[in-house]
Amino acid sequence: MTINKYKRILLKLSGEVMSGKRGFGLDFETINTISKVIKELVDEQIEIAIVAGAGNIIRGIQASEGGGMDRINADYMGMLGTVINGLALQDSLRKVGLHTKVLSALNIDKMVTPYNSERAINNLEKGNVIILVAGTGNPLFTTDTTAALRAIEIKADVILKGTKVDGVYNADPMIYPDAIKYDTLTYQQALTEQLKIMDATAFSLCMEHNIPIIVFNMKDINNIKRVAMGEKLGTIVKGEN
Ligand code: UDP
Repeated sequence: MTINKYKRILLKLSGEVMSGKRGFGLDFETINTISKVIKELVDEQIEIAIVAGAGNIIRGIQASEGGGMDRINADYMGMLGTVINGLALQDSLRKVGLHTKVLSALNIDKMVTPYNSERAINNLEKGNVIILVAGTGNPLFTTDTTAALRAIEIKADVILKGTKVDGVYNADPMIYPDAIKYDTLTYQQALTEQLKIMDATAFSLCMEHNIPIIVFNMKDINNIKRVAMGEKLGTIVKGEN
């Protein structure tokens, strides 16, 4: 079997992953482990863009529905949370010797560089790891949608989306132990079977622009490398061949 590594990947790193086993805040050991794996990929000449989530700090919808906050304010807090996570990741990536650029959809000039797609691509071509923060810069979106949008803009080959399970199943494997895992799915199948891959906006952007999504288990951080190197792990969702 020939394995082809990807040339340019977009890794969606949820806040939950960055919190390790704690489930909230930042787990620096986990972040450092992620950085070591990212370094191995850069050494393989793979270009890497990372979209940071912020579920370990705040999610707008939860703060608004559960906490009574105004949704728009809460979403701006969520976007700021992604900046915090992005800076933590940058610090860790630097420690393993990588060159990085944090590109932000919201202007906070003393800390991060404003995002635009040209700057993003230039940095990737130089071998810098780019960390994309502040989501889309707009409330009412998610970092999954950010991942889809940015993947299209920077012409990524694939979106890697780590989860707590091994891929996409026909039912929730946490509830139904005999649920069946898909190795490959088309966008259409995922829609027809109402399988939740990403939120609807993110999914429709990927489908429209034919960006493959690989859903894989991130509990083992090393899986990022296996997937990026082209190993068939998890579930790949893509267009008809
Ligand atoms: N967010 C936003 N606009 C965006 C991206 C994110 O308002 O374009 C806010 C939103 O409140 C979201 C939070 O930032 O809940 C954190 O993002 P997300 O929930 O996607 O983080 P993850 O679950 O991936 O850690």
